[in-house]
Amino acid sequence: MVETKLIIRNVKARAVLAPLKQPIRTAVGTIPSAPLVLIDVTTEQGEVGRSYIFGYTAAALIPLVYLIDEIASDLKGKPVVPMERMREFDRRFRLVGWQGLIGMAVAGLDMAFWDAIARALDQPVVCLLGGTPVSLPAYDSYGIIDPKVDEKAILRSVDEGFRAIKIKIGDGDLDKDVKTVGAVRSMIGPKIKLMVDYNQSLDPVEACRRILRLTEFDLHWVEEPVKAEDLRGHAQVRAAVSIPIQTGENWWFPRDMAKAIAAGASDLAMLDVMKIGGVTGWLSAMGQAEAATLPVSSHIFVEASAHLLAVTPTVHWLEHLDIAGAILADPYRPVGGTMTARGPGFGLEWDEKAIARLASGRH
Ligand SMILES: [Mg+2]
Repeated sequence: MVETKLIIRNVKARAVLAPLKQPIRTAVGTIPSAPLVLIDVTTEQGEVGRSYIFGYTAAALIPLVYLIDEIASDLKGKPVVPMERMREFDRRFRLVGWQGLIGMAVAGLDMAFWDAIARALDQPVVCLLGGTPVSLPAYDSYGIIDPKVDEKAILRSVDEGFRAIKIKIGDGDLDKDVKTVGAVRSMIGPKIKLMVDYNQSLDPVEACRRILRLTEFDLHWVEEPVKAEDLRGHAQVRAAVSIPIQTGENWWFPRDMAKAIAAGASDLAMLDVMKIGGVTGWLSAMGQAEAATLPVSSHIFVEASAHLLAVTPTVHWLEHLDIAGAILADPYRPVGGTMTARGPGFGLEWDEKAIARLASGRH
């Protein structure tokens, strides 16, 4: 029998601002480059588990590194047993709660633990979870676009095999939404699925008004029309329109998801592997989604999501939005509009030269 019990020796967290191919433009602000924290969990057995987390803002990076160092000082000598470690984290952070930097740090550690175990077995994480790598349908995910400027890129996505495109809207008035969505629908034709994301920018009354006008464009979903935590508002919009409502990227750990399901806030579920609580959180969330018959899509984190969606009973779409490619030695790439998990672990190897260049400011 292979000895798989790994003991945590050391945790290293590093901040990096990873360049993006395109800044991510949303109705509530632009993300110029990806603020990431890279986590390496070294074990006594020599295996190193890796993960990265997305800080959303560069201002969060140094606090996240500090927090991970602080949490890790209590982990040395403990076994890499993610379910046990999560039980401890849940007790330790009960009074502060999961939303925010604590949840992000814990989820990053959890992902690195699962990566270490899978690497020790020389397996992809998906196999450790009882699945196998499968080719998952992905949609190409755009920010706020200019239909003229971005037409070439969108048509290229379709040529490459993507069967679905998502754009962000809501940065102007309803007329602008209608013009943008109409232009993209005529560009891609009736067969390619089209989704839109309001990034929480509307109130429920305005959301209903706008979405009803967009019905003619046969949208596959409308994402976060109102504030993510306004579950009642989401339910209100959902009851008033016929286009499916998508939320979930801002559910913090599985208990937040339970509240959204109880409120009838969404037709679909979009899980963010970091905010939902790492692999351990995802496993609980995917069970809830199955029980509630909610189709599950992923949010950023293409690598980990390719593993987790492959074992998710109600798998729907993988979001293709690459935030870490610039610091990975062998970034995941879509093939014919699909993505497939690979190992060992999550299949993440750092491009140390690129990371050193970014750390020194020489881009
Ligand atoms: Mg979104």
